[in-house]
Amino acid sequence: MTKHNFRHIKTLSLCALIAFTTSCKDDEKKQDTMAKNENILLQEWTGPFDGVPAFDKMNVKDVKEAVERGMELGLKDIEKIANNPEPPTFENTIAAMERSGKELDRVFTYYGILSSNMSSPEFRDIQTELAPKLSDYNSKISQNEKLFQRIKAVYDASQTTSLEDDQQRVVDLTYKSFEMNGANLDAEKKKRYAEINKELSSIYTKFSNNVLHDEENYVTYLNEDQLGGLSESFTKSAAKIASDKGQDGKYAITNTRSSMDPFLTYSTERELRKKVWNNYYSRGDNGDEFDNNELIAQILKLRKERVGLMGYDNYAEWRLQDRMAKTPENAMDLMMAVWPAAIARVKEEVADMQAVANANGDNITIEPWDYRYYAEKVRQKKYDLDSEEVKQYLQLDKLTQALFYTAGRLFNYEFTPVAEGSVPVFHDDVKVWEVTDKDSGKHIGLWYLDPFAREGKRSGAWATTYRSHTTYDGPETVLASNNSNFVKPAPGEPVLVSWDDATTFFHEFGHALHFFSSNVKYPTLNGGVRDYTEFQSQLLERWLSTDEVINQFLVHYKTGEPIPAALVEKIKKASTFNQGFGTTEYLASALIDMKLHLADPENIDIDKFERETLKELNMPKELVMRHRTPQFGHVFSGEGYATAYYGYMWADVLTSDASEAFKEAPGGFYDADVAKKLVNYLFAPRNSMDPAEAYRLFRGRDAKIEALMKDRGFPVPKK
Ligand SMILES: [Zn+2]
Repeated sequence: MTKHNFRHIKTLSLCALIAFTTSCKDDEKKQDTMAKNENILLQEWTGPFDGVPAFDKMNVKDVKEAVERGMELGLKDIEKIANNPEPPTFENTIAAMERSGKELDRVFTYYGILSSNMSSPEFRDIQTELAPKLSDYNSKISQNEKLFQRIKAVYDASQTTSLEDDQQRVVDLTYKSFEMNGANLDAEKKKRYAEINKELSSIYTKFSNNVLHDEENYVTYLNEDQLGGLSESFTKSAAKIASDKGQDGKYAITNTRSSMDPFLTYSTERELRKKVWNNYYSRGDNGDEFDNNELIAQILKLRKERVGLMGYDNYAEWRLQDRMAKTPENAMDLMMAVWPAAIARVKEEVADMQAVANANGDNITIEPWDYRYYAEKVRQKKYDLDSEEVKQYLQLDKLTQALFYTAGRLFNYEFTPVAEGSVPVFHDDVKVWEVTDKDSGKHIGLWYLDPFAREGKRSGAWATTYRSHTTYDGPETVLASNNSNFVKPAPGEPVLVSWDDATTFFHEFGHALHFFSSNVKYPTLNGGVRDYTEFQSQLLERWLSTDEVINQFLVHYKTGEPIPAALVEKIKKASTFNQGFGTTEYLASALIDMKLHLADPENIDIDKFERETLKELNMPKELVMRHRTPQFGHVFSGEGYATAYYGYMWADVLTSDASEAFKEAPGGFYDADVAKKLVNYLFAPRNSMDPAEAYRLFRGRDAKIEALMKDRGFPVPKK
């Protein structure tokens, strides 16, 4: 399965341009340190484990001042490097940049929590106000002429006398990043470049706040007699949400994926399914002041103009040059190689569902709001697999133990809960574990888990770091977190999750393991290559269905009995089930993302473009894009996944191919030799080596598409 709701960008995507870290020891800085101490968000982290964020003291009121002060300090660091009278060297320029902006980096740990985990109207106002200022800040660094000339001097020198491998990689990545962000432009073009970025940053914020608005303001309330098909746990939590919203005695279906998806899968109320479906897929597209269509057109125009300043034909070409795919054509080729098989499978799935509907005497033609409902019926009939039955073996606590077991076997990690209250958290739901090496006991980091949905928390699941591993200024340990939106059960009830959600749980933990296992020296080398960083996490999903995990952790929540072998067999057989739906809804989004950025944005009508492009692709009418354009936050609430949504499939080719390596090994998924290569080549180096090269070291060759087609149950293309 491809997963799409993950985001693990540490801060604002604009800030990812340059790694911000610093240590400030000189006198000038001492005064600054005095001043910054007034604001808790800027302060150095204290307490156990080399210091931890003071989440318990975090206050929205401090954010604006902290960000502004952090930017001021960051710019001072940069000015000092740029104006250094000494000739440029790796140490006084590149390494010094790696050290710069540490205060702002700390503020962004809090900022990330306040925007993703604990958002509020108050914070959103601050965010809106700060977005253009942060854009200015980034421009001031990326367009600092003196700074760039120093970077260029180090880069040029390294082309004749090369540096140590990791230093060379940092130089290459830093130079490339500046070049890609307009550092080589003349003064006039640079000015326009900065204006564009500033404008974009405001539109991005507006875009995501519009989606959030529509998620919060379209709630469907059900009466007692409209609960047909829904499970007891679902109705219980729906009742609680309704009562929290002041609608006692009713049941609330919120406008988020975690509420919409199960409702559409199980509710027997077709008209209500249509309503919930419409609400969800109309987010950002309601023709009111929160409509995103015009914003998207503006974004596309500005992006095209910006890359045009640097001589690129389109945004996609500019974006993909430092990705594993390298060019839009390579990405399109992969997507179009899979697309025909995906839509052909949809036809079969619709036929199966229509047959079930007819046999039931339901006088209907399958519509998009029927897909999940009848797919579930087909699943039960064809695979005799009842998702609710499976859920009874998927308890959040046991799954968490399963993650730890997997990490223990592959990475030699041990997870120990830290004493309650010893590490500050931002909400009572958040739990913290210490990660150590099983043999040496060496401290590796802390793992924070924020499992439950709540108001102000964005939907989906994601992983992030508060602190990353580096060694260039002495070892820094990792603070990583996983965030999910499991529905919090009524008191005393266990948290039972779906197979898909359990898979996602493993996926996000894969990102965390990728953070923990880093062995890089410099912060920049922790950066991700977008079409590669989903690979490690997608690969980790595979351990959920290994025998070791199944037998020990997938046990019934009442009887404690392991999940029956027959049920496991059914799950495995059903793993290719509904791949037409899954692959098509994903690929439709990925194709639209790419095509929007290859198109001429002048006078573009977004709604029409989406409709016509899907028609040209022969998009089956029985389903929609997983993320329709007006709500496609991956692509339009920042630049993190713009022309990069294809990356999930790119990574999935690697995932399927790499998991074949385990299947072929004598020890299977726990084979010690393959696991060692996995850690050494695919996880620990992060971006300190070229991903294609790292993969070859693991596999002995490049990845092939065959395993992916097989995993999805599609015909394997003949050579
Ligand atoms: Zn991910």
